[in-house]
Amino acid sequence: MKTRRDFIQQVALTAAAVPLLRLPAIAHPLREESQLRVAFMGLGGYANRVADAMKDCTKARITGAISGTPSKLSDWQQRFNIPAANCYNYENFDKIKDNPDIDVVYVTTPNGLHHSQVLRIAAAGKHVICEKPMALNAREGQEMVDACKKAGVQLLIGYRMHFEPKTLAINNMRNSGVFGKVKFFQGQCGFTIGDPTQWRLNKELAGGGSIMDIGIYAINGSRYMTGEDPIWVTAQEVKTDPVKFKPGVDETIMFEMGFPSGAVASCLSTYSMNYLDRFYLIGEKGFAELQPSTGYGPIKGRTHLGELTQPHKTHQTVQMDEMADIILRGKKPVIPVNGEEGVKDLKIIDAIYAAVKSGKKETLHLG
Ligand code: NDP
Repeated sequence: MKTRRDFIQQVALTAAAVPLLRLPAIAHPLREESQLRVAFMGLGGYANRVADAMKDCTKARITGAISGTPSKLSDWQQRFNIPAANCYNYENFDKIKDNPDIDVVYVTTPNGLHHSQVLRIAAAGKHVICEKPMALNAREGQEMVDACKKAGVQLLIGYRMHFEPKTLAINNMRNSGVFGKVKFFQGQCGFTIGDPTQWRLNKELAGGGSIMDIGIYAINGSRYMTGEDPIWVTAQEVKTDPVKFKPGVDETIMFEMGFPSGAVASCLSTYSMNYLDRFYLIGEKGFAELQPSTGYGPIKGRTHLGELTQPHKTHQTVQMDEMADIILRGKKPVIPVNGEEGVKDLKIIDAIYAAVKSGKKETLHLG
């Protein structure tokens, strides 16, 4: 498959051969010194997906890697042309402090490691992009926000849907009053999880179960789809396989939230149902539906006015180019992706677990 760079090169060659031909305007890659230089920490499934998507980025490029597996470092050096001097392990990565080729570290390790790793990256004076969930609870998340502030570095969360064209179209329509007063949001997120030995089913590394991993999309989505932060939550847990889903690792949780305007949300998070990826927003004048709503795409959507037709773009390519503009040029994204957003989602997760235990409505103060 041709990459965007191949295409740009091909267009440039054609232009040189036929100087009088008028060509359409295209996005040129920024000069190297204006690009965001990214090091990945934890070279697993998602890091590989983002790194592959970055081949089409014009504003960000990979310059470093941090891993506990030496063979992955050699593989990444070859695949992404990373110098050996920009490769680190978990013991020595504090030395990135002295590496002028790295602007930001993208943390793609298991959830339970994010907190300590982000504190170390901040202390090394580098910006951070941290995957969701940013930490195991809101207290840890706030400590990460505070540490990055103190170190004068930015902390962004890998909320790729905040840059997705159909999601942004709905956001824009809601803000313009197309749906009228928002009344109800439904967020259903889940998949059937496989290998019982993986870190996602280990309380220490995952911080919980489906809510931490996939339910967080419904939580985060409830906020960007309604345009409000919830003020209360109730939740109920269902566990059909206590062997696979140990204490503290949730299989399925249903939760309901209330918003200051009076809008309400009803959500489902699960590790035991496939094809569950749907958002539904209803207002007094119309509705919006996304299905799939948060998978890697293409996202599909419609409103009471018809199908959404914004073209699909690889989420991670757009995310990394946008994050380059946020970090290097102070761009303000339409839907924020800063650490404080990650803390809000963790406050809701803390309250969901508390509501499962108490059986009561928990009040939220997202601030
Ligand atoms: P993987 O298990 O595929 O990769 C995690 C990597 O972390 C490992 O390959 C390993 O890399 C490193 N690691 C360090 N310590 C450990 C440890 N104790 N156990 C396991 N791995 C370790 O996970 P994912 O890539 O799927 O997920 C990583 C993060 O990204 C999670 O926070 C997850 O929630 C998030 N994610 C986000 C997605 C999104 O769409 N935004 C999608 C998927 C995941 P190495 O050998 O190089 O040290």
